[in-house]
Amino acid sequence: MISPRQELREITAALRRSLAAERADGLVVLTGLPPARQPPVSPPSAPEAPAASAVSTPPPPVPEPRAVPEPPTAPAEVAAPAAPVFQPQVRALDQPSDALAPFGDLVGRVAACRSCTLCDGRTATVFGEGSPHADLVFCGEAPGYEEDRSGRPFVGAAGVLLTSMIENGLRMRREDVFILNTLKCRPPRNRAPSPVEAAACRPFLEEQLSVLRPRVIVALGNSAVRSLLGEAGGITRLRGTVVDALGAKVVPTFHPAYLLRNPAAKRDAWEDLKLVMRLLAEPR
Ligand code: SF4
Repeated sequence: MISPRQELREITAALRRSLAAERADGLVVLTGLPPARQPPVSPPSAPEAPAASAVSTPPPPVPEPRAVPEPPTAPAEVAAPAAPVFQPQVRALDQPSDALAPFGDLVGRVAACRSCTLCDGRTATVFGEGSPHADLVFCGEAPGYEEDRSGRPFVGAAGVLLTSMIENGLRMRREDVFILNTLKCRPPRNRAPSPVEAAACRPFLEEQLSVLRPRVIVALGNSAVRSLLGEAGGITRLRGTVVDALGAKVVPTFHPAYLLRNPAAKRDAWEDLKLVMRLLAEPR
């Protein structure tokens, strides 16, 4: 009769063999078990005839390997999210790629300009866009954050409003007017341009207007009014008037960014747009 101690020893030995088989198949890895006691290795000796009992005892059955769930595989490499890509809120213009051709080398000279310190912080110069044959020009102050990133004028929230003023107010397409700024580089933190910066960039604006030769220029906000008209007076005093300057009729009105902050002023801006329409309707 087998003693309990012997029975435990045999169970342990069978378990070790089973684990050894699974380990060999790479199915299981266990730690913490004491190493199996190896039988003492005796020096090789002449083979003996096997004892009858050794032949007749079958090895204990090796249990079928258990189905082991696949180890979790590393997740497929996912590309790190790209830096946020700038999404213009104003649709791309449907205009020919050579729309700026009439400006000749002026486009390249603006892009390479280092006449004032604003060149140090810019991502891109913002020359302007639209039809070089436009009767109507919108002139803003300077590029903002999104304009600096995209190289296009008025593409942020203020640009959306300006586009609405053009398309829903004036019933014109954005690509049929020309939109530019008095400065071609973004001032830090969107501060107002200094007189030195405005003076440095002014020749580019004059060259652009000499090519465009618009009938009407809408000056958007105080800085644009001062740059175009040299007026120290605020937009509140000048809006609603028409000033002959730079070979065109200049209509001062509020900057769209101001209208976003002060929606009540949109009524006055609408009056200014109606004035623009009357001027455009006049015979040449
Ligand atoms: S703001 Fe005008 S003058 Fe100054 S670096 Fe830019 S393009 Fe040149």
